[in-house]
Amino acid sequence: MSSTPSLPLTRTRVVIVGAGPAGLTVANLLRAAGVDCVVLETESREFIEQRPRAGFMEEWAVHALARHGLADRLLERAETQGDFEFRFDGERHIMPTAQLSGRHHYVYPQPLLVTDLVASYVDKAGGEVRFGVRDVELHDIDGDRPAVSYTDPATGARHRIACDFIAGCDGARGVSRAAIPAGRAVLTRHDHGVAWLALLAEAPPSADGVVFGIHERGFGSHMARSPQVTRYYLQVDPGEDAENWSHSRVWHELHTRLAATGAPPLTEGPLIEKAVLDMHDYVVEPMEYGRLYLAGDSAHLVAPIAAKGMNLALHDALLLGEALIAHYQGDDGGLEGYGQACLRRVWHYLEFSQWLSYALHGASSGDRMKAGTASARLRRLLGSPSAAKAFAGLYLGEEADL
Ligand SMILES: Cc1cc2nc3c(=O)[nH]c(=O)nc-3n(C[C@H](O)[C@H](O)[C@H](O)COP(=O)(O)OP(=O)(O)OC[C@H]3O[C@@H](n4cnc5c(N)ncnc54)[C@H](O)[C@@H]3O)c2cc1C
Repeated sequence: MSSTPSLPLTRTRVVIVGAGPAGLTVANLLRAAGVDCVVLETESREFIEQRPRAGFMEEWAVHALARHGLADRLLERAETQGDFEFRFDGERHIMPTAQLSGRHHYVYPQPLLVTDLVASYVDKAGGEVRFGVRDVELHDIDGDRPAVSYTDPATGARHRIACDFIAGCDGARGVSRAAIPAGRAVLTRHDHGVAWLALLAEAPPSADGVVFGIHERGFGSHMARSPQVTRYYLQVDPGEDAENWSHSRVWHELHTRLAATGAPPLTEGPLIEKAVLDMHDYVVEPMEYGRLYLAGDSAHLVAPIAAKGMNLALHDALLLGEALIAHYQGDDGGLEGYGQACLRRVWHYLEFSQWLSYALHGASSGDRMKAGTASARLRRLLGSPSAAKAFAGLYLGEEADL
């Protein structure tokens, strides 16, 4: 925190830092309820509308967005998936997750969701996002009059916006989390000891849904994104350079790790994204300090092993938006219980993600104990109807308050 008293002052009720799925959802809810807010975003609108990341949305999240009128295009365009396939020891094991859980995954790339949320908030509702801002700083978050300052990219001038609350929705690399004074929040971190090479291929999917290939050379996976684009992942060593992975090396490894009797061959295509992600998780507790409320990846990162991060970001954002609206109607119960309500789901999803990580990475660990127990975990999952049902429920997301 720092003080910058000489800056021009404007005022709003809520400053939202970050225009990702979390920040834009909070903004849409507040705007629709007539609560003044402004969103500050370091990138351009074009950039955030194209940044590739998540693709899987849980049914409850889609329904919740729909209740707020934020899912029209999503419901028109998203595909739903109902099967999940493991491949290992050269065999295919298809699990009917939708039939087992009564729910579907919606496949809707994150850039499309962000595009819809920006359009709804800015173009339809007349909300304000200040794009391309620099050097965002949070001030006086422990007082009644917090503020956020930033540098205007066009003029180079500093601006300061006074507010009642700050929603820190600026992702894993933002500044909001760091504004909490040392000792007032604890960040707990878990490293999975592996990295994934995240790939987007300009190629049609080669299976109907998600395929997880468990192999002693490392995990590999296939995820249908659209008729033209497929996401693939390859487990690599932490710190690996994506440039070491040529087109032919990537495809050779994908063919090897996803091979199984009777599986259709993978359709190759140009790789339009190639990035190494070190697999780690963290949780910040508490998620609020003074007038600052963290939401989404700024408060917790879940490695994309079980496709949970964006779903959690939306869960936080929906709770925070509703709690802030309730505050202006005289009810502070939502704000008081906000962090605890988010963290219950965060820990629940993290536990599942770590459980799955063990099953997926054991075979390639080089550790006989891990490989043996991971293989036992998979055999139980595939051999026991009750274990399969529990897995399907966890993978597709729980509706109930957990
Ligand atoms: C390869 C990959 C695949 C994934 N797949 C899935 C999946 O299938 N399902 C799923 O649920 N999740 C998935 N995730 C996770 C998901 O993408 C994130 O959890 C989600 O983006 C979190 O949303 P957010 O709004 O909290 O943060 P972000 O999307 O990171 O948004 C934060 C915003 O804040 C901006 N910002 C940063 N710093 C500042 C600052 N100082 N001032 C102002 N603005 C700032 C950023 O530019 C950004 O626009 C995946 C992630 C990756 C990397």
